[in-house]
Amino acid sequence: FDTVSILNVSFINTTNAAFIQQLQQDVTAHRNRFVVTANPEILMYAREHPDYQRVLQRADYVTPDGIGVIQGAQILGTPLPERITGYDTLLKLLEWGSLTHQRIFLLGAKPAVLKTVVNKIKHDYPGVVLAGARDGYFQDEAAVVTEITAAKPDMVFVATGFPKQEFFIAKYRERYAALWMGVGGSFDVLAG
Ligand code: UDP
Repeated sequence: FDTVSILNVSFINTTNAAFIQQLQQDVTAHRNRFVVTANPEILMYAREHPDYQRVLQRADYVTPDGIGVIQGAQILGTPLPERITGYDTLLKLLEWGSLTHQRIFLLGAKPAVLKTVVNKIKHDYPGVVLAGARDGYFQDEAAVVTEITAAKPDMVFVATGFPKQEFFIAKYRERYAALWMGVGGSFDVLAG
């Protein structure tokens, strides 16, 4: 995708449909990919935290997650077609994952929330293979990474909130080729 730069963050200039199609190809080819869905809050944080800014620069796809980003792009004269949110992208990938039996790993949220999400995915997306799930309140990062790689997921959804989830993915993604995506509070939304 070509990109649009806002405050030194390069957003992909594409639609939800084209983006999902690209992710499906990436997962099918077992490419190592890092997705950040960036809202204005993330942009502001990146501006004040150069280490986080560098993490965003290392992502493969940064999407405009929020109307504020779309408006910013418009004002700068480099419009972006539409919002691409973490939650919508997660649901689309689960739908496709159910049809094509993709393996997923869920990392994040409180234990009770995660349990509800696991049950919901089993019910609503029966074709998805749940390779593993771990709540987001862990001490031993290395053990969690070992658990993820041993589970051999095609997609890893990290829901520990920003900036934690992006730092985690940037630090460990080279260990294992999968689609790695930070999904913020999506597990809480999914759990209802
Ligand atoms: N969370 C977590 N581990 C932590 C801190 C937070 O798993 O150490 C989870 C929290 O339970 C919630 C999500 O991360 O499910 C954060 O959601 P929030 O809406 O704060 O994140 P954002 O969408 O702003 O990135």
